[in-house]
Amino acid sequence: MELKQLIERLKAVQSDGNPHPCPRCGLNSAGTRTALSRQADVYICDECGTDEAMRAAANLAPLPLEYWNYAAAIKELKPVKSCLTCEHREVCLQRGLAIFMLFIQTGRYEEAEDAGAYLDISGQCNHYEPEKEDDRDGF
Ligand code: SF4
Ligand SMILES: [Zn+2]
Repeated sequence: MELKQLIERLKAVQSDGNPHPCPRCGLNSAGTRTALSRQADVYICDECGTDEAMRAAANLAPLPLEYWNYAAAIKELKPVKSCLTCEHREVCLQRGLAIFMLFIQTGRYEEAEDAGAYLDISGQCNHYEPEKEDDRDGF
């Protein structure tokens, strides 16, 4: 999987409305209330947003995604246990059932699709399997 796609997956997590570490600098908070990156469809902190804008205005090359803090984290860390990093995510019956009970059965239909992108119920699951290395480090 491309590094850009891996970084953009964070947007679903960021969409919970809470502050998260900025994937570009790793220092400040980023989320739905801060800047949207020009390089990838993901929220970055306002300082990084300003830096991207200034580089663009000065016709400077953007900071390569390989230098983003999150890129280093992906390479160095083992994936955190989460449905979002689980090999079975797309076909997991347990997760599908949870989405059904939480969102379909309760009439929150419009939230069900988003839940597919961010819902993490791995805490109670013994079947977690990290995504294959090829999928994570394909950059
Ligand atoms: S961690 Fe468990 S519940 Fe989540 S996707 Fe993987 S197998 Fe399913
Ligand atoms: Zn930042």
